[in-house]
Amino acid sequence: MNISFFGACREVTGSCILIETENTKFLVDCGMFQGKSYYKNLDNFPFNPEEIDFVLLTHAHLDHCGRLPKIFMDGFQGRIYSTKPTKDLTEIILLDAFNIAKREKKPFVHPLCKEKDINNLMNFFTCLNYGEEREINDCIKIRLRDAGHILGSSIFEVWVKEEGITKKMVFSGDLGNHPNPIVNDPEFINDADILFVESTYGNRLHEPKEQGEKILIDKVKETINKKGVLLIPVFALERTQEILYRLNNLFENENIQGVLVFLDSPLALKATQIYKKYFSFFDKEAKELINSGDDIFDFNGFEIIRNNSSKAMESDNPKIIIAGSGMFTGGKIGKYLKRYLGNPLANLLIVSFQIDGSIGRRMINGEKKINVEGKKLEIRADISTIFSFSSHADYAMLLEWTKKMSPKKIFVIHGEEDASIYFANAIGGIVPKINTIYNF
Ligand SMILES: [Zn+2]
Repeated sequence: MNISFFGACREVTGSCILIETENTKFLVDCGMFQGKSYYKNLDNFPFNPEEIDFVLLTHAHLDHCGRLPKIFMDGFQGRIYSTKPTKDLTEIILLDAFNIAKREKKPFVHPLCKEKDINNLMNFFTCLNYGEEREINDCIKIRLRDAGHILGSSIFEVWVKEEGITKKMVFSGDLGNHPNPIVNDPEFINDADILFVESTYGNRLHEPKEQGEKILIDKVKETINKKGVLLIPVFALERTQEILYRLNNLFENENIQGVLVFLDSPLALKATQIYKKYFSFFDKEAKELINSGDDIFDFNGFEIIRNNSSKAMESDNPKIIIAGSGMFTGGKIGKYLKRYLGNPLANLLIVSFQIDGSIGRRMINGEKKINVEGKKLEIRADISTIFSFSSHADYAMLLEWTKKMSPKKIFVIHGEEDASIYFANAIGGIVPKINTIYNF
């Protein structure tokens, strides 16, 4: 078989792997390039989309699903295999990306794609449960396992039979951190011939969870005491729900009062509704809370901003504002930064991975002046970070997860170059090159 990589090699976006066997061609993920690589989305696929038999979609993050509309517009007519939550989340994520591109007057992944094309794409999904095996044809069988990264995220086990010999491939997708609230811990897989493993945190260890929880409590209390503003930029998927879950626990168990909490992210609101629909996918603790009658995403003082963002701005301090996006690209966070970044009473709490060169990374690195949506801002707000809330496994977890399988061949993907190389060296894997064919 031939294996080629068309994204997420020595970078964290654009996941797309092509597997060509004797009689089948399939993709694992078809993700969007983001950040400074965005314009690579406009390049033609280096393969014929009409010849692709099916796509395995690990999860609904844009860097894994974002080029699905493009592959359809270019002639793909096969099935997309995923879990049900992944299908529902993919629809809102793609529509949001489409609308952002339109609003910002930048090209979408395919120039002819319309909103109805994205809706139509949903008819091509075949949804499976975790643990369920599916023979796709005489030579290929798949099984989804829980990756514990975001709701519905999957590891794919794929058995390929060629010339009477079966090889097992495992695709980690994005592997979750553990223990994380709401989602289950990532499942361990016992065996693999060829492993494709992500390496977002391939060279780093997360802080202990307790440290992150303490920072969150301290920042909430500090905000109340100094009658300030706490800004928490979030990704709409998982991080929003996780922060709401933690604040719900904090407000109900630590008797926090006298502070309003606003969520200003239409996408996060839609995603939270999908989370509520699939609570059977939640972990034991979250299910127990729900069964005891608690709405895990709601608490005293919590308010959703539906149309009027000025409501959060005009409300009295102290207040907490949760807004997208987690990496300061688009979303509502820009206007809050413009309003509050120069205010010494404000705290900005960064709780998400920040890509190299991003506004967030530069603020963490101590830059005191930053350009937001064309406006130069002086930073007087307090900047703090929590990295232990990451929804990615860290180096230690990746190592433990990989070693369990004793794979014969390991491709280390989906990481910045230094992270991928570091992890590949630790496990005897290789960091593949983009647009290059590997033969087995
Ligand atoms: Zn992801």
